[in-house]
Amino acid sequence: MKKQWIASVLCAAMLLSGCAAASSDPPSGRTPPVSDPTDPTPGIADPGDPNGPAGPGDPSGADEPGSPSDPSGPDGEPDGSENPGAPAVTWKPGGIGYPLVPSDPAVEQKVAMLTFDDGPSNYTPQVLEGLREAGVKAVFFITGYGAAQHPDLVKRIHEEGHLLGIHTMTHPNMTSLGREEQIAEIQPLIDLITDVTGEPPRYFRPPFGAYNDELLATLDELELELINWSNGSLDWDDVVDGYKDPNLVVEAVLDQLHPGSVILAHDTMKHTAEAVPLIIAALRERGYEFVVLP
Ligand SMILES: [Zn+2]
Repeated sequence: MKKQWIASVLCAAMLLSGCAAASSDPPSGRTPPVSDPTDPTPGIADPGDPNGPAGPGDPSGADEPGSPSDPSGPDGEPDGSENPGAPAVTWKPGGIGYPLVPSDPAVEQKVAMLTFDDGPSNYTPQVLEGLREAGVKAVFFITGYGAAQHPDLVKRIHEEGHLLGIHTMTHPNMTSLGREEQIAEIQPLIDLITDVTGEPPRYFRPPFGAYNDELLATLDELELELINWSNGSLDWDDVVDGYKDPNLVVEAVLDQLHPGSVILAHDTMKHTAEAVPLIIAALRERGYEFVVLP
């Protein structure tokens, strides 16, 4: 895995050095990720409030996409070559729901991370296929009900080199639950993922992006880190009969693209599965490389 980060960082650095100034794309933060898609009760604890970067409860809006997408970049295709002298950089969110930042501040940040919530589902194989063909690793924040229906896919996600994170058993708004209920929503998935991967998961994505101090304390106790998103694909928005044009998903991602983008999508939707290769190609065209968390 380390290899991959190194390669990613190297590519990002090389590409950046060749990039010209940004275009006049839409300003940053224009489409703050709203509450979690698949959730029937949006609006609760909408993450897009205008809190400052450090403000709790604001996973989204605050992402100040530093610079808009840069269509002038080079081809952006990672060549997979590896420089033995490259620093061993790891990527972390720069706060809850904020852009990824490198462990080495000298490293440029034209990177993005794909995250998929709510699955596994019948569409997960297609998502995995798109990722495999493009050579991209992602994070899958799984649910208890998805895992119960597709235990084989949980294993496959791991076997194909992706990261498994937790998105709760039943997808509640965690801020409305007490400590014990919160733990009951999380612990079985810790056990499941540990069983599948041989080590406990490290990351948690809250349904609806909703969290509060009590949830953070629970996560702390369970040694989990909350990861929200900074770039919502809107794959949940304007869906008609379960489908929307995958190109609109790509557009939404590009509109919000910024260095260190943590992209929220759902492997429970057909159009998202179709959009995956398009998103990857569009970002690479703009000089972006894909990374995952340690
Ligand atoms: Zn969700």
